[in-house]
Parts: sequence; C-alpha cells; structure tokens
Amino acid sequence: MGSSQTIDMMRMGGILTGMVKQGRIELHSHTLYSDGELLPSELAQRAAICDHAAIAMTDHADASNLGDLIERLRRFVAQQPADWPLHVLVGVELTHVAPGSIAKLARQAKRLGAEWVVVHGETIVEPVAAGTNRAAIECPEVDLLAHPGFITLEEARLAAERGMIVEITGRKGHCLTNGHVAQTCREAGALMVVDTDTHAYNNLITLDEARQVALGAGLTAAEAEAAVVTTPQAVVQRILLRRHTHSA
Ligand SMILES: [Zn+2]
Ligand SMILES: [Zn+2]
Repeated sequence: MGSSQTIDMMRMGGILTGMVKQGRIELHSHTLYSDGELLPSELAQRAAICDHAAIAMTDHADASNLGDLIERLRRFVAQQPADWPLHVLVGVELTHVAPGSIAKLARQAKRLGAEWVVVHGETIVEPVAAGTNRAAIECPEVDLLAHPGFITLEEARLAAERGMIVEITGRKGHCLTNGHVAQTCREAGALMVVDTDTHAYNNLITLDEARQVALGAGLTAAEAEAAVVTTPQAVVQRILLRRHTHSA
C-alpha cells in the first residue's frame, strides 16, 4: 500500500471516528479575495494556531466573481498537505445578490465545486434587499443563512423544516439582533451555529469565546454546545465524507 493510500485511509478513519471533533470550527470567513485582510494561507495558519479544526472560507460573491473565487480556493485546498491538521472548506457568501438570483447562483456555486454556500442575510446594519432571508431559506443549495437580522418566525420555521442552519454572529453590527435570532430559531426549532465572519486575524475566536457569544445571545448551555460544537462538527464531517467519496 502506497503512503498516500495510507494517509487517505487514516484520514477517512479519522473522519469516521470523529477526529474532526477537536477544536473550533469556523463556517464564515473572508480573505483578501473579497474584503478580508489575509491570504488563504495566512488565514488558515492563524486559524490552526488558534486551535481550529476547520474553517470555511466564504468570500463575498455575486455573478461577477463566483467562478474565480471557487477556482482559487479549490487550488488552495488541493495543495494542502494530507497530514495538515486544519480542514479548509471551499465556500462563498452570496452578498447583496437580488433575491430572485440567489437560487441560480447557489446552484452554480455548487456545480463549480463550492462545498458550503452562505447567504448574506438581512442584517439591520446594511441595506440588504427584503426577501433575501426567504430566498436563501427556500433554496436547497444554500447551507447557511448568515446574520439574518429580524428573521421572522415563519422564516425560521421554514428553515427548521428544510434543515437550513441560521447564524449567531460574533461580528460587530450584525450581532445586534443575535438575541432575536436565537429566540426565534429556538421557538421554530431551527439549527444554529456561532460564526465570527472573520475579516482579520484578530476576529478569530476560541471555542470558549464562541460559547460566550452563544450564551450572550440567550442560548442555554446545551443549545450553545449544539451551536458551537455538535452542529458544526456534523457539517464538516458531511463535507469531508463527500469530498473523500468524490475523490476516491
Ligand atoms: Zn455577510
Ligand atoms: Zn461575511
């Protein structure tokens, strides 16, 4: 058996036995390919040093740059050494896209190889088009609704029904409605995750800090654990298994 096969099997074994379980998982971040400050390599290194097990890089995308972003990240992920401790997920964040175009672009993103599609939701600190939350929730190719502002109970119920994950955010401004988002998603039974929406190295947080964000939003300790550990782990395991199956 060749060494690359051995590493492959070890990786697969690790995925199946839950090696992904250790460390912080960040599912929303930006590099200098949109308005973040760091190259993917530096963001990945900073995340690894900050005890992350995985990070999704999700630069701002619309029809003008979607393909370029995904292609760049796929090249980056392809050159990561097999024994590197941090998993980098290929993502995009559809941002200020007209609600009527979200489904088409999300489908295109997945077809081009995006593993994780985020939609920039109706935060109260930006003029995001009304109907963006709903269009994201209705699209099966969208994985995460970020900073959804005053998400309605009806939208949250639909998210719960469809298995859509809703974000509790550590980002200044977007976080102003965290309490509302947490309460509405709890009532609806929708899944939540805690993200930072990292744009600079000092936006990354530890597991304990992520728990604080969750508790500060009003989640119970058990709900915080789901939002910070269990749900993100399930996401990463699903993506890595799919990646492995496709490359096998
Ligand atoms: Zn956003
Ligand atoms: Zn973002």
